[in-house]
Amino acid sequence: MKKNFVYAFADGDGHNKKLLGGKGANLCEMTQIGLNVPPGFVITTEACRAYLAKDSLPPGLMDTVGDEIGKLELATGKTFGGGSNPLLVSVRSGSALSMPGMMDTILNLGLNEDTLAGLIEQTGDERFAYDAYRRFIQLFGKVALGIDDDKFDMHFEVVKQRVGVKADIGLDAANLREISEKFLEVVHRETGSPFPRDVHEQLRLAIEAVFRSWMGKRAVDYRREFHITPDMANGTAVNVCTMVFGNLGDDCATGVGFTRNPGTGEREMFGEYLTNAQGEDVVAGIRTPKALAQMEVEMPQLYTQLVALRDKLESHYKEVQDYEFTIEKGTLYCLQTRNGKMNAGALVKTSIDMVDENLISREQALLRIDPEYLEQLLHPRLDPNTPVKPVATGLPASPGGACGKCVFDADLAHKLGNSGEAVILVRKETRPEDIHGFFAAEGILTSRGGKTSHAAVVARGMGKPCVAGAEGITVDVNRRRAVVGEQVIREGDIITLDGSTGDVYIGAIPTLPPQFSADLKTLLGWADEVADLRVMANADTPEAASQALEYGAMGIGLCRTERMFNASDRLPIVVDMILADSAEDRQAALDQLLPIQREDFFQLFKVMSPNPVIVRLLDPPMHEFLPTESDLVKQIRNLGIYRDVIRGRQIALASIPGALDSPEAKLSLSEEQVSEARTKKRRMLQKVRDLEETNPMLGHRGVRLGITYPEIYAMQIRAILEAACECGKQGIDVSPEIMVPQVITSQELGRVRTIVDETIARLEGECGHLIKYKFGTMIETVRACTRAPKLAIDAEFFSFGTNDLTQAVFSFSREDAENKFLPMYNTQGILQDNPFEVLDTEGLGQLIELAISRGRAARPDLEIGICGEQGGHPESIRFCHAAGLNYVSCSAPRVPVARLAAAAAKLREREY
Ligand code: PEP
Ligand code: MG
Repeated sequence: MKKNFVYAFADGDGHNKKLLGGKGANLCEMTQIGLNVPPGFVITTEACRAYLAKDSLPPGLMDTVGDEIGKLELATGKTFGGGSNPLLVSVRSGSALSMPGMMDTILNLGLNEDTLAGLIEQTGDERFAYDAYRRFIQLFGKVALGIDDDKFDMHFEVVKQRVGVKADIGLDAANLREISEKFLEVVHRETGSPFPRDVHEQLRLAIEAVFRSWMGKRAVDYRREFHITPDMANGTAVNVCTMVFGNLGDDCATGVGFTRNPGTGEREMFGEYLTNAQGEDVVAGIRTPKALAQMEVEMPQLYTQLVALRDKLESHYKEVQDYEFTIEKGTLYCLQTRNGKMNAGALVKTSIDMVDENLISREQALLRIDPEYLEQLLHPRLDPNTPVKPVATGLPASPGGACGKCVFDADLAHKLGNSGEAVILVRKETRPEDIHGFFAAEGILTSRGGKTSHAAVVARGMGKPCVAGAEGITVDVNRRRAVVGEQVIREGDIITLDGSTGDVYIGAIPTLPPQFSADLKTLLGWADEVADLRVMANADTPEAASQALEYGAMGIGLCRTERMFNASDRLPIVVDMILADSAEDRQAALDQLLPIQREDFFQLFKVMSPNPVIVRLLDPPMHEFLPTESDLVKQIRNLGIYRDVIRGRQIALASIPGALDSPEAKLSLSEEQVSEARTKKRRMLQKVRDLEETNPMLGHRGVRLGITYPEIYAMQIRAILEAACECGKQGIDVSPEIMVPQVITSQELGRVRTIVDETIARLEGECGHLIKYKFGTMIETVRACTRAPKLAIDAEFFSFGTNDLTQAVFSFSREDAENKFLPMYNTQGILQDNPFEVLDTEGLGQLIELAISRGRAARPDLEIGICGEQGGHPESIRFCHAAGLNYVSCSAPRVPVARLAAAAAKLREREY
C-alpha cells in the first residue's frame, strides 16, 4: 500500500508523535478537540527519512502537498500565490522529541511581488506587508538558501542607523521596502539567481531545508548530548500552517504561555506577549515583552479567552503546557503546544498540586519527573546573608546560584568550561548555535529577552541558573566587556548570578547547600511506598550519614573505612602501623587506632539508628597511605639541605660573641630533630619501594591484606562490634553489617568469619547482651560471581561492587579508559554509555544475574545490593529492580534520584 506522507490537522493521529513529530501531533490533537488552530497539515517523519536517504523528496509528495494547499485555500478563502487575498504559510520543523530551536522554521512563505501587492491592498498596511516580506526573504535566504544572517543584518543596521532608530518598530514602510529590496539583491548576489517567485517552488525548497536541518550540526550535537537515539526520534516532520498575524495593528498580539509558572510551579497565568508583533520577536528577545497579567488590563476579553484556552490545554493533556498564541484582529489562535519544560522544583510542586487537583494520579506524578532532574534541587543557593549589593537585576529565568569567569562567546565558554574552569556565558541574547557554550557554563546571563527567551528556556531545561534580560548591563561582545553603570566587567572577571532572584553580582558569593522542600519530601514518600528497592547511601562519616538521612537514605550501604584513616589525627598512626617491622610494633599502632575507629563507628551507628550500616573492612593497598616515592626523595633531599643549613648556622652563631644566647638563635629545630625526621622519611621511602606493585589495584589489597595482616581486620572488627555493644548499652538500636572486600574464595571469607566469631565470643560475655550483626561480602571480582553459592555459605549478604567488577569484566582500568579511549568509543557508538556510570546490563548484567540466582539457590534469604557508582543511576536502578536486588546504595546527593528511580522501575515493570 502506498505510504501516506501527509495528514491534515483534522485527520492526523494526535498520539503518533513518532510519525507526526510532537508539534504536528499536538496541532492535530488541538484541532480535533476544538481549539482554534489555523488550518494546516503535517508531512511525516517518514517522508523526512525517505528524503534524507535519497536526497530527493519521495515521488508524488509535492502533488499531495499541492492538494492539501488546495484544501487550505478552500478553508480560508485565500489563494496560494494569489494576488488579491494571498495565502501565506509557516513551514516548521518538529520531531518526536522537543529540541527547542535546533531545527529550522520559515514564516510568511508564499510572498512574492504579486502577493505582496495583494497583501498591501488587502490589509491597507504597507508597513506590515513589507515587514513580513523582509522577514521572509531573510529567513528563507538563511534556511533554504544557506545565506548567513550577517549578510542581511548589515543592510538592516545601515538603514536603522541612517534613520536613527534602535528598534525595528521605528522603521516605516519605505524603510522596510528599501530593506526588502536590498535583501532581494543579497539573495541574487549570494546564490547567483533571483529570489524564487514561484510559491510552490518556495514551498518545496522550504520543506527540503527543514528535512535537511535534522542532520544539521546543531541538531546532531543536541541529540548526542541528550542521548536522543533513533528509537526515540527519527527525522523531523514538517508542519505547514496558515499564517496568522500578530502584527497587523494594536488589536493584534503574539505571545507564549505556560499553564503554570515553570520557575516555581505556581498555578498562575504565566507568559509574555507583545502587541503588534510576530512570534519570533517574543522568543528572540528583540523587544522586551510584557507579562500576561498586563493583558488582563489591555485586552480583557481576549485575556478571558486565553484563560479558557489554558484551562482546556491542561485538562486535556494532564500536563503543564508551553503554548504559543497569536491574536489577529481580535481572534485568538493557538499555534502550538507542548509539554512544558520546568526546573526540578517546579516539576515537584506541580506533581503534588496536580494530584491534589485530581488531575493526575500519584503514579503519574511519580512518572512525569525524570529522576535525574532531582539532583538540580541539590544545587547550591547563594548565601542570603552575604552583605553585597547586586550590580544589576534581570529576570529570574532559571533558579540556582552560579559563579564563574565572565565569558562573552559560546566557543570560549566551551573551551574554558571543558578545561575545568567555572564560566558564566554572558551574551546580549543567545541563539541556538550557542548551545555548546550552555553545556560548558555554570550559568547564563543575557542583557535582553524575557523568561521565555531562548536563553531562559534552554537553561531551565538544563537546570542551569540563568538571569535573562538584565537590561542595566550593556554587553559589548566585540570589545569583550560589559558595562554596568560606572563599572566595567572584563572577560575573565568573576561574577555571580542568582537565577532565583535575577540578581547579578561582581565577584564570588558564598553558596549554601540546598534544602529539601516539603513537596519533595511528600513526593519521595510516595516513591518509597511504591518501590521494592531500598535506597541506601555510601557514606563514611557521621556528617555524611546525617546528610544522607536528610535525603532519605534508608541505611548506609557502604562505609569505606579507609577514608576514616586519612584524617590528619589518624594518618600518622596508620603510617606507623605500615612502617612497623614487627607484629608487636604493628599491634601498638593498631591499639592506638582501635578507640578512634570505635568512636567513629559509634557515632555512625547512632546517627543511622535503627537503619543498617554496612562497614567494609580495609580495602586499598597500603602504599595509598604513604607519600609517593618522588615526593619522599624530594623531602629527604630538602631535609638534608635544612640540616646542613642548621649546622652552618650554628657554626656562624658560635663565631659571634653572645649570639648563641640570643632568643633568635633558639628559634630553629635542632640538628637532631631534623636528622630524626629524615631517618623516618628514609624508612618510609624504603617501605614505599618494598610495597611497590606493577598493578596495585590487582595486587595486595582488600581481603588479601586482611589475610596477611589479620591483626588489622581484627582491630576493625573489634571496633565495629564494641561500638555496637556500646550502642546497645545506651539503648540505641543498631544493625551493623561487616563486609569483606575483593573476595575470590570461600576460604578467604571463612578466615575473616573466624575472626568475627572469636571477637563476638569474647565480647558477648563482656557486653552483657547479644550483639546483632550481619556478615557478608562484596561481589567485585568475576570469580566471586561464579562462586556465589560457596560464598553464600558464610555470607548473609552480597553487595555488588560494580566499580571494580566493571573494570574486571571489561579488562579496563577506569582512569585509563576514561582519559584515553572511552569518550571516543561513546561518540563512535562502539559503546553506548560509559559503563562506569551506567551499568552494562548486557555484559556485566548477565554475570550479576548469575551470581544472584546461584547465591539465592544456596541461601534463599540472601540480601543483595549494589554499592558501585552505577547504583545511583536510574537506568541501572531499573535493571537492579528487575534482577531482584534488595537495595541500591549510592552517594548522598544521588539518594533522591535513586528513590524516584526505584519507584519508576516498579511502576514501569510491565514494560520489560
Ligand atoms: C566497587 O568496586 O564498586 C566499590 C564500591 O568499591 P571501591 O569503589 O571502593 O573500589
Ligand atoms: Mg571495589
